[in-house]
Amino acid sequence: MNKTGTVTLENVACTMCGCVCDDLKLTIADGCVVGVSPGCALAEPWLLGQSSSDRPSCSIGGQSVSQDKAVEHAASLLTKSASPLIYGLSGSSTPGQRSAVHLADTIGACIDTTASTCHAPSIVALQSVGESTCSLGEIRNRSDLVIYWGSNPSKSHPRHMERFVDAPGQHVPGGRSARHVVVVDVKASESSQRADTFIQIEPGSDFEVLWAIRGLVRGLPLDASAVGGVPRKTLVDLAERMKQCRYGAAFFGLGLTRRGIPHVNVGALLQLVTDLNRHTRFVVRRMRIPGDVAGADSVLCWQTGYPFSVNMNRTYPRYNPGEFTANDLLERHEVDAAVLVGTEGIEKLSDAARAWLGEIPSVILDHAGVDSPVPGTVHFTTAVYGIHRPGTAYRMDETPIPLRKVLDSELPADHEVLNSIISRICRMRETAVRT
Ligand code: SF4
Repeated sequence: MNKTGTVTLENVACTMCGCVCDDLKLTIADGCVVGVSPGCALAEPWLLGQSSSDRPSCSIGGQSVSQDKAVEHAASLLTKSASPLIYGLSGSSTPGQRSAVHLADTIGACIDTTASTCHAPSIVALQSVGESTCSLGEIRNRSDLVIYWGSNPSKSHPRHMERFVDAPGQHVPGGRSARHVVVVDVKASESSQRADTFIQIEPGSDFEVLWAIRGLVRGLPLDASAVGGVPRKTLVDLAERMKQCRYGAAFFGLGLTRRGIPHVNVGALLQLVTDLNRHTRFVVRRMRIPGDVAGADSVLCWQTGYPFSVNMNRTYPRYNPGEFTANDLLERHEVDAAVLVGTEGIEKLSDAARAWLGEIPSVILDHAGVDSPVPGTVHFTTAVYGIHRPGTAYRMDETPIPLRKVLDSELPADHEVLNSIISRICRMRETAVRT
């Protein structure tokens, strides 16, 4: 710390998007973040808005209460529930996610993450046909062809290209100039302007275009003059470029998972990449949006065996997307209480699901300054992992990144609140058995 009370921290990780960049330099003064470098359009406003907070804030029905009272009320509410739901988790961290699974096991809840409204079709597809994976570092160090399909990283992941495509790699010392970048999407974007080749496809034609390229890669003739609005020659050139590259990487985003039949689209891309491995090394990765949604998948997988939409009601985990997915459960009024670990995914739920969420009692854990879209019966303001608490976030390639504490705060972390609720529920049950 210098004489003015300013301190600079290096190699800080950011959890604003799935890149989880761990090379940030933060300047801290008077308990606030006052400088962020290098710049990022998403990270800067979020980090500059973070400050120390020593005022724990809990409320019941909008009235401020002590943390003990809020925990007691949340435990009582969940004990009475016959069919509770736990949802969110992508803004949390490994300790919070693990405690959420423990709570689900304790109360027999369905547990689901924001992945169910984002990359769920990708998870279903990769469970069906497999996935050729790698780390992002491997892509930076080896790739000479990068394809973004249905993704606009310049906007959704502002430093993705800078860190993994533009940067020189061990076997690609020329960096961006040594890589060919292709963007495939239904319209031009900031990212397509940075690409060497932009291929515009007709909305809803992803599967047809991918299947045509897959046929070309397998040596089948393509009779049509165009597929999905893409001329035959363009498809032939792309298939040839994919086969001829030394190391290719395909990144796909929500554009691919929200058009046509999403899991079939993703399955087609995964199978194309599998076929390409007969010619060269080719990998495929999802562009995960929220900071630790990959961590939520990972923690649920290692704790229950399944990545999302898990029901613990029969004391053993059951997995069934659609049946145990938060949006569907809420639309069908099949839950009577909810625990929201972060409310960042609520706006993606349907109107009917959100309306039912507003009807049932809920326990909300949110960071300071977040305006929850539903009022919540019991509300806890929690510390931010990577700002006020250490933790672990999983990057979009499932690489665990350690999170450091950079600001002081007496706010409780997600796992502390959830563990207190679990302890209180267990004590309530013991008392009920004794009496
Ligand atoms: S690209 Fe994403 S993780 Fe990296 S600094 Fe920007 S918002 Fe944070």
